[in-house]
Amino acid sequence: MTAPLFDRLALIGVGLIGSSIARAARLQGVVRSIAATARTPATRRRVLELGIADQVVETNAAAAEGADLVILCIPVGQSGPVTHEISRHLAAGAILSDVGSVKGAVLRDMAPHVPNGVHLVPAHPVAGTEHSGPDAGFAELFVDRWCILTPPPDGDEQAVKRLAAFWRALGANVETMSAEHHDLVLAVTSHLPHLIAYTIVGTAEDLSEVTRSEVLKFSAGGFRDFTRIAASDPTMWRDVFLANKEAVLEILGRFNEDVATLTRAIRRGDSETLFNLFTRTRAIRRGIVDLGQDSAVPDFGRAHAQLPLAPLPRPYAADSE
Ligand code: NAP
Repeated sequence: MTAPLFDRLALIGVGLIGSSIARAARLQGVVRSIAATARTPATRRRVLELGIADQVVETNAAAAEGADLVILCIPVGQSGPVTHEISRHLAAGAILSDVGSVKGAVLRDMAPHVPNGVHLVPAHPVAGTEHSGPDAGFAELFVDRWCILTPPPDGDEQAVKRLAAFWRALGANVETMSAEHHDLVLAVTSHLPHLIAYTIVGTAEDLSEVTRSEVLKFSAGGFRDFTRIAASDPTMWRDVFLANKEAVLEILGRFNEDVATLTRAIRRGDSETLFNLFTRTRAIRRGIVDLGQDSAVPDFGRAHAQLPLAPLPRPYAADSE
């Protein structure tokens, strides 16, 4: 348990991320009370039933009222309008933050509506699942994951430190960088992989020579792991691609060049190019496991009842590996 860092936490949006923050903040005793709200009465009712907030209110303005930490946990396209909606209700000295997966557009959309004396510190917890809604959240979501803070260049240092302490109390590691750099990094590590997954799953669906039942039946050949990513929330991901257009197009351009190189290598039977690339990429996977960002168990970390929870022997690996 940590001594409370904030008196009143306002969560605007209580889906996967908002409800995970509520659960973790409660568990760790990081805030004295939590006020929450969501767009629809159905979600607000569910949050009440789950009992993960002290108060569930009907409007965003009512949630923000009197809070010393306000976190928007809503699709990034809503950040500007919602900040405008709550701006007159923000308390002097409050920290206003968010959890959006894109930071440049969020900073641009929120900043004009932030009153003097309120500290804007955008944040992105790089943790999630393909599930949405208040039932999908869990208190451990942020443990050992990174939370990236992207304060504006003239941002209040004390506010950044307080928000960093909040995320650390929830179990996250914290790093600070510019919004622009965040968007480029995430375009590579998250946005492009999602775009590729959405494309592959869509392509498989459109193939006329392979039936839908064959795609589902033989999915363990790699397809299955893409379907998990491609099951992510359509509203959230539509907003991410619209908001991070420049960085995604930049990385997509490079990706297309690399695909062209591989296409040529396959056509020409250039085994060396293929083998060298696949060797390099395997090392990246190992680096991620070594850093504790995934486990080495089979099925990309998903435990399987009939399998031992240890890497299977790999007869195809070289002796040195
Ligand atoms: P989610 O489960 O779909 O929840 C979104 C929440 O926002 C819902 O409670 C929704 O209410 C509410 N909402 C939408 N528009 C609103 C408005 N105008 N006013 C008040 N509430 C509103 O989404 P999520 O996965 O938690 O994602 C939320 C944010 O976290 C997104 O910006 C996303 O980029 C970011 N993020 C997501 C992940 C991830 O893996 N999912 C990871 C890191 C960051 P209703 O249910 O009533 O519609």
